[in-house]
Amino acid sequence: MTREGDVVRAAACEFARAFEARLGSGRLRYQEPLAPYVNWRVGGPAEWFFIARTRTDLIVAVRTAREAAMPVTILGYGANVLVSDTGVAGLVILNRTEGMEVRGEEIWAESGMNLVTLARRACEAEIGGFEFLMGIPGTLGGAIVGNAGTREEWIGERVLEVEALDERNEVLLWSRAQLDFGYRRSRFQRTSEVVLAARLKGYRASRASIEAKMQRMLEARTHQPSGPSAGSVFKNPPGDYAGRLIEACGLKGYRLGGALISEQHANFILNTGGATAREIRALIQLAKAAVRERFGILLEEEVRFLGVWDS
Ligand SMILES: Cc1cc2nc3c(=O)[nH]c(=O)nc-3n(C[C@H](O)[C@H](O)[C@H](O)COP(=O)(O)OP(=O)(O)OC[C@H]3O[C@@H](n4cnc5c(N)ncnc54)[C@H](O)[C@@H]3O)c2cc1C
Repeated sequence: MTREGDVVRAAACEFARAFEARLGSGRLRYQEPLAPYVNWRVGGPAEWFFIARTRTDLIVAVRTAREAAMPVTILGYGANVLVSDTGVAGLVILNRTEGMEVRGEEIWAESGMNLVTLARRACEAEIGGFEFLMGIPGTLGGAIVGNAGTREEWIGERVLEVEALDERNEVLLWSRAQLDFGYRRSRFQRTSEVVLAARLKGYRASRASIEAKMQRMLEARTHQPSGPSAGSVFKNPPGDYAGRLIEACGLKGYRLGGALISEQHANFILNTGGATAREIRALIQLAKAAVRERFGILLEEEVRFLGVWDS
């Protein structure tokens, strides 16, 4: 056993001890497989894994890991991530903080709130403006990070302010103007801040009109490929569609092992059973290279890669 190995082990024990002292014993898991927690159903284990049920859980877990100089990754529903087959080093926090309050036309919700539940509760409170979330799998935090939405509507438009834990472990309030929302973009993609909660604003609408719009949203989704995926792999380039470009390269139905470029929508990659993250990643790179060569357009990934990748 090397001295270096001893030091690493001692640091891990110290971290686990500090963590359990603050958050309770039996809640921190070691080498937890991540595939069941992500929509693509692939990927290796989290070195350390914790499910945050409350805002305090989330803040204390992040602080404790950072004090141990451990990388922290927040996972919502894993609907927009590809986890590497070798897994993710450090602490992965599954965010299930689901507090929500309605105040007039405003909603305050914690970042682990499920998007569809949020839309349904807004409907019950006769608040319109959240119908587009029907059919988008994920948490509010993940949606804010990626400014999730449809072609017409996106979450950033509904955000008044976001409460976040910054890199110095301080809780800050950012107003929408400070959040740099753009097409599938927000400030949180270039910081290590953790989204804790958000104040959102809708508008008064009748329950019947909200329900009708929600139904339309769900019907629009019936054309979407079914099966484990992360939705659209690439952002649409200005004035075009990533799916159209990939299809024009003849890649619809192209398969690598268990990973398949959907026959229905070429911007979706499906895990048809037994795919590895490496196969999915290779298909992403292949589609990107083909579109670049044929059209001179560099597609940008919408999905985010977690863990270590060799290329
Ligand atoms: C079938 C299908 C359809 C989809 N359709 C759409 C669509 O129409 N429009 C659309 O925009 N997207 C769509 N997506 C993608 C996905 O639903 C969204 O990106 C969603 O917002 C992901 O949320 P999540 O909680 O699963 O995030 P995750 O995938 O868990 O995380 C995404 C990123 O955000 C980070 N993150 C998550 N939570 C936090 C937090 N609290 N603080 C800081 N960082 C955080 C993660 O570390 C990761 O980098 C679709 C996906 C699928 C599978």
